[in-house]
Amino acid sequence: MILTFWFLFSRALALDVVCTLPYLADTAKRVAPSANVVSLARGTDDPHFLSPTPALMAQVAKADLFVENGLGLELWSERLLDSAGNPQVRPGQNGYVKATTGVPVLEVPADVSRARGDLHAEGNPHVWTDPLNMKIVADNIATGLGRVDPSNAAVYTQNAAAYKKKIDEALFGADLVGYMGGDLLSRLAAAGTLDTTLAKKRLTARLGGWLAKGAPLKGKPVVFYHQSWPYFIARFGVKVVGYVEDRPGIPPTAAHRDQLLGLMSAQGASVIAVTNYNNDRVPRLLGEATGAKVVTVPGDVGGVSGATDYFSFIDGIIAALL
Ligand SMILES: [Zn+2]
Repeated sequence: MILTFWFLFSRALALDVVCTLPYLADTAKRVAPSANVVSLARGTDDPHFLSPTPALMAQVAKADLFVENGLGLELWSERLLDSAGNPQVRPGQNGYVKATTGVPVLEVPADVSRARGDLHAEGNPHVWTDPLNMKIVADNIATGLGRVDPSNAAVYTQNAAAYKKKIDEALFGADLVGYMGGDLLSRLAAAGTLDTTLAKKRLTARLGGWLAKGAPLKGKPVVFYHQSWPYFIARFGVKVVGYVEDRPGIPPTAAHRDQLLGLMSAQGASVIAVTNYNNDRVPRLLGEATGAKVVTVPGDVGGVSGATDYFSFIDGIIAALL
């Protein structure tokens, strides 16, 4: 009886944090473990396209904080916010967080009207495959939580700091983070000078984590399905031979397929990586024609069964490509 009462009481007090995507919900849970955190999209959904159903609207209607990726990825969130009738979580309000604020965006078109395909007119929104970007995302979520729950702002800042340290250790290995500090390592990695600096200081052997595990991916020729991987590619040095999609969001033409086949054999691409929510029919045909192996990579947390949180998500991508 007392337990039931306490459960209802604490539920009523807990913040409702509604995130558009699973990776955002995973981060929000780390920063605010006591909040009710939900993700509107599942890992098996294509994050570009989701129907704003009444069930999703009901979630947004009672949200204290709404967290989205932004950069034009969630083509469905504007309609959802318009219909949910919760003015506190609209863009510009205290209850709204654009998680990618401050992330260095890749592939920003010089001229939007002439951009190839309209799907990514604000630049490439798939920022979460670079673990460094997750540290900015965690800070943005902590700031938003602090706005709607100021009495716990310091707790959210602390939790975000702990999460960022965990990201550093997962990316560089705990040993090197202990020796050089996560901030310095992150700055070097962001500037693209990590490898040369470590070599100069004879510290290459002390690099651990995802960067050490993913080292064989450097220069490895891979075909991807959709342009959702530039951030991963930049961090891990994978060589992109081409994309199965001709333009983002548009199925490939026969001419594009032929061109890709030529590139694949010229560059020796042995792997075609298909995000779990994309159709693998064309990749399989390309694989049969070239002998390249088709692998499924998770697009987000929950995209494949083993990717239960952000850490196993990145583990899964690296393992699939290796
Ligand atoms: Zn996309």
